[in-house]
Amino acid sequence: MRSSLLLLSVAAGLTGWAQEPSALLQDPAVKAALEAAKRNEPRFIEEEVRICEIPAPPFHETERGRELQGLFNGLGLKDVRMDKAGNVIGVRPGRSAHPNLVFSAHLDTVFPEGTDVKVTREGTLLKGPGIGDDCRGLVVMLATIQALNDGRVQMPGTITFVADVGEEGLGDLRGVKNLFADSLKGQIDKFVSVDGTGLGMTNVGVGSMRYRVTYKGPGGHSYGAFGMANPIHAMGRAIAKIADFEVPTDPKTTFNVGRVGGGTSINAIPFEAWMEVDMRSADVASLKALDDKFNAAVRAAAEEENRRWHNRGKLTVSPELVGLRPAGQTPANSAIVQTALGVSHALGIEETLHEGSTDSNVPMNLHIPAITISGGGKGTGAHSLNETFDTADSWRGTQRAILLAIALAR
Ligand SMILES: [Zn+2]
Repeated sequence: MRSSLLLLSVAAGLTGWAQEPSALLQDPAVKAALEAAKRNEPRFIEEEVRICEIPAPPFHETERGRELQGLFNGLGLKDVRMDKAGNVIGVRPGRSAHPNLVFSAHLDTVFPEGTDVKVTREGTLLKGPGIGDDCRGLVVMLATIQALNDGRVQMPGTITFVADVGEEGLGDLRGVKNLFADSLKGQIDKFVSVDGTGLGMTNVGVGSMRYRVTYKGPGGHSYGAFGMANPIHAMGRAIAKIADFEVPTDPKTTFNVGRVGGGTSINAIPFEAWMEVDMRSADVASLKALDDKFNAAVRAAAEEENRRWHNRGKLTVSPELVGLRPAGQTPANSAIVQTALGVSHALGIEETLHEGSTDSNVPMNLHIPAITISGGGKGTGAHSLNETFDTADSWRGTQRAILLAIALAR
């Protein structure tokens, strides 16, 4: 989970939507499942530590994935498999194949290979890279399957559990993209991802586009070859244009030149200059408009530099898209958000809606009902080596996930 912002607080009142999840609490099987969740929590915290000590660096999630595959089988899921992207998929059939709820958490971490992933403990505080994001989500998913089994909960609809790859950074949501484009194409009616810690909910998916732009020319001696186009000068022109972009504040739309490089020597006209640029918005049209402006600016900068030197040492520019997270949102008044709010209300959880960039971005962009919930407990330092997860009352997050799964698989 990345950069989540508080959007609004929702005071859960006794309105219509709150009725159905509350009524579910009267069902003996549901009650039994929720009790099991609380009872099983200490065991699943042990699991959280164990799973988190299996490294899952970006693009290398297979070992942790194989472990989840074994656990899915052990919990009795059907048709357990790993798809070609590396997602681990397992089905809990209901009375009917639809609605089919995908309930997911991501396998990958932001930490490179070789990172020490040992988890340490002090009281209720666990410390280790990835312990909250997203070992917590993986374990809430497992605890949900176990509790549904323990309560012998029969559901009208089907739940497909997925431990997915590539949520973080340049993973670029490739796991969930593959679910919707290939392995579960056309079969997903609703989507929930459990990501990170706390008791929040994300219904707005901030999209992002990331580019690496390279300017190239012949280069030469700064004195002897003077009079030819200069890739760094061209890139400077581009950055000046980008820096002056006007973007909407609502929906919040952003741009950043984050890294630059190039050149070989103070007395050489460089043959190459490059920059990395990140642009974001939760609004599809605003992100598209910004992207168009950006591409026009980097090309215009190359043309201006070439014209300035009458095409001597003519340079070229190639903007390469290195990251694309689609934008989208699930409206606050949609059935899935209202049901989720009702679930939280029924369990006495005061709900807040957030925006962020998570696996749910993909279904949100496709207009498939989707939200991301966090997994309970309290976390600090996500994406840092000092990440912590406080397990005090973390069972509340597990219970919320379970009741939500039950409420949506119908
Ligand atoms: Zn995450």
